[in-house]
Amino acid sequence: MQLTKPHRQRLTGKALKKLYLQVVHRDEGLCQICGKIGQQAHHVLYGSKKEDCIENLLLVCGNCHAKVHAHLIAIEPYLRPEQLEYVEKKQRLNHINQPTGVF
Ligand SMILES: [Zn+2]
Ligand SMILES: [Zn+2]
Repeated sequence: MQLTKPHRQRLTGKALKKLYLQVVHRDEGLCQICGKIGQQAHHVLYGSKKEDCIENLLLVCGNCHAKVHAHLIAIEPYLRPEQLEYVEKKQRLNHINQPTGVF
């Protein structure tokens, strides 16, 4: 696998689908917010920091995903320790203290 770009990794097509399946596997097919079946991968960091890597993706259901995007749910409490670490590291790198949550 090509991982030469440590910054802003973006994937398309098959690679993205494979990553999505890894997210589903890690999160056991469940929405990490409400515990129902999850069908969508939400990007934890978005905008200029949006990356397609497993730490930046959280499996959610359509319902919770819509709420996250409507700023009705903060996702930080639902992140895994390694994801919080990833977010902190990225935010330190960028010297910007933006809240996480919505793409
Ligand atoms: Zn949900
Ligand atoms: Zn999203």
